[in-house]
Amino acid sequence: SRTYVVTGAASGIGRTTAQILSDRGERVIGVDLKGTDVSGDLSTPEGRAGAAEEAARLAGGTVDAVIACAGLSIPKPLTASVNYFGMTEFLEAIQPALTRSEAPRVALVSSMATLQPVVPALVDALLAGDEPTALEIATRMAEDSRTANVIYPSSKRAISRWVRREAPTGRWAGAGIPLNAVAPGTVVTPMTKELLASEEGRAMTDAYVPMPLNSHQGPETIAHLLIWLTSVENSHCAGQTIYCDGGTDVVLRGEDV
Ligand code: NAD
Repeated sequence: SRTYVVTGAASGIGRTTAQILSDRGERVIGVDLKGTDVSGDLSTPEGRAGAAEEAARLAGGTVDAVIACAGLSIPKPLTASVNYFGMTEFLEAIQPALTRSEAPRVALVSSMATLQPVVPALVDALLAGDEPTALEIATRMAEDSRTANVIYPSSKRAISRWVRREAPTGRWAGAGIPLNAVAPGTVVTPMTKELLASEEGRAMTDAYVPMPLNSHQGPETIAHLLIWLTSVENSHCAGQTIYCDGGTDVVLRGEDV
């Protein structure tokens, strides 16, 4: 069996992914704020480093795959920290344990929100690895409801760009590690529960996230793709953000490939 580290394993997509993997006999080390093998706060540099170290230790020093799901969608600066640095710094910290595997793989969860308008200054600060500046920009954005809702898409645009930038480098491709992302459309999880509970919330969501194929999805649709991307079978898919969104990406972006 393979050893997987799954962040955000206490809820939603991460929880479902961890469950499917353990049902298949794989070893799973869950990371989340609480309720998992490793308790850690991925919103802080110390929390990320500590969680990565503890997960690698529990794995016995060798990790076969990391699936990073932990994320937030609240219109606050914390969302930028968890969604971007909570993935990038955690992955960088655990990378040495991946290099000891015979078939190391990484997949993370981006979002169809990468396609929505962003604040380029926030995306740039994130990609520059400058958390203080990113938090300063996000704090100003959070003061106005119109820009507050752009923190989430900006964090997801940045993470998908990070995947493209990093995937071909020595740290990932050079170490034999495929690095990819999945971009879901609307997934029915605790994150979207409140939004989808009202007629008005559903109408607004569907206006922003058109899903002509099969509409809203359960977390297992995303879990299965994350599991394939981190399986031994995936030897050549690298740097991609794969939209699993019932067609949202093609509706919004048209025929551009
Ligand atoms: P969820 O809220 O059910 O699960 C997210 C998990 O992340 C929770 O268990 C939470 O405790 C954990 N988390 C949050 N902050 C953390 C922190 N500081 N440290 C450690 N763990 C933390 O949500 P979900 O829908 O399963 O979302 C999983 C991922 O999918 C997220 O990255 C989200 O942005 C993305 N996504 C979700 C949807 C959707 O419609 N639900 C759509 C596109 C992308």
